[in-house]
Amino acid sequence: MNIHEFQAKQLLATHGVTVPTGAVVTKPEEARAIAETLFQGGNHLVVVKSQIHAGGRGKGTFKSGFQGGVKLCKSAEDVQAKAQAMLGQVLVTKQTGPEGRLVSKLLIAAAPEIKKELYLAVLLDRTTSRPIIMASTEGGVDIEEVAEKHPEKIFKETIDPAVGIMPYQARKIAAALGLKGDAFNSGIKLLINVYKTWWECDASMVEINPLCIVTGPDGKEALSAVDAKVSLDDNALFRQKNIQDMRDLAEEAPLETEASKYSLNYIKLDGSIACLVNGAGLAMATMDIIQHYGAMPANFLDVGGGASKEQVSAAFKIILQDPNVKGILVNIFGGIMDCNVIATGIVAAVKETGLKLPLVVRLEGNNVAAGKKTLAESGLTLITGDSMADAAQKVVKAVGK
Ligand code: GDP
Ligand code: MG
Repeated sequence: MNIHEFQAKQLLATHGVTVPTGAVVTKPEEARAIAETLFQGGNHLVVVKSQIHAGGRGKGTFKSGFQGGVKLCKSAEDVQAKAQAMLGQVLVTKQTGPEGRLVSKLLIAAAPEIKKELYLAVLLDRTTSRPIIMASTEGGVDIEEVAEKHPEKIFKETIDPAVGIMPYQARKIAAALGLKGDAFNSGIKLLINVYKTWWECDASMVEINPLCIVTGPDGKEALSAVDAKVSLDDNALFRQKNIQDMRDLAEEAPLETEASKYSLNYIKLDGSIACLVNGAGLAMATMDIIQHYGAMPANFLDVGGGASKEQVSAAFKIILQDPNVKGILVNIFGGIMDCNVIATGIVAAVKETGLKLPLVVRLEGNNVAAGKKTLAESGLTLITGDSMADAAQKVVKAVGK
């Protein structure tokens, strides 16, 4: 699960990480009121930040033509004007895809003067099965670009999960970031607390880009998390009650939300061939083989090992709601799965939805004879595939690729 920047900053702040003071608003007048308080508090600049679950907002463009989803302002009037220009508009960034995201919330925050922008992230390193801290002096820019062009500028430190971050490791990272004096001390504290946030929230990633060297209220150099992204591990959400409440369904693809109600693993993609498969591995192989024969999958869908007739039927309806779908490939290898349950679910769903699109079914395994019989006796026009390759070729041909 992903959360908004303002929520990520709340989590960081509760774990002792310094973040700029601010509040989230949904109306231009509220933005103005918050800005007035911030200016009265002695801040010279206030930043207006679009809250969407995607990065690259600073360089993004609204469909209205307005440039930038992150704007610095010198007056409360300007904050209100910028908020007016952003709210209710669709922001397109490098990460949103061409359809963009509707901005309905803004973070209005104090904008400290930035002396340097750095990069910091805590994630899970799958090769070592350990947490890893990545840090770079090249902050504020696309980290993928840094990784590609200047891999030597990304410093990595692996953490022993049983021990947690050791003070010497925090010092090593702070040194790699070129921090000195007060900034060094502030950095050590921040690193330890960012790691603590990652650990205690069951996050899969905490990314701070940019992490900034600023002048603190005491006049000393300090570090502040000016942007923040936190992704949570869905498997641990059950024990993170307050984080569960941060879920914003408006940011999730509606079909994916619908699928999660039926415990289906569905991810919408851009192609024209919908697939309904049991098992994540087989689902990925199915997407590959569709591409191999020259078409693109419309989705990833794993109905799971023990899906019920109702789940299959729901899955069918979900994939059909995607207007790009021109054909369907059902690929089932019945291990635990009873092929006849799938067949019954398909027949029910096809009848209910009045399906007109070509449907190719490949069934194999547990109770396959009964499954094939159900399909044959259903009176539905469907194409059967003998093997995965055969089924994939047939569906690609049927949609006319
Ligand atoms: P992103 O584009 O979605 O990653 O949004 P960011 O929050 O990272 O903002 C993009 C850029 O705007 C940052 O790299 C900064 O250069 C600038 N920026 C964002 N917030 C502030 C701020 O509080 N003060 C200043 N001076 N610049 C900021
Ligand atoms: Mg950023």
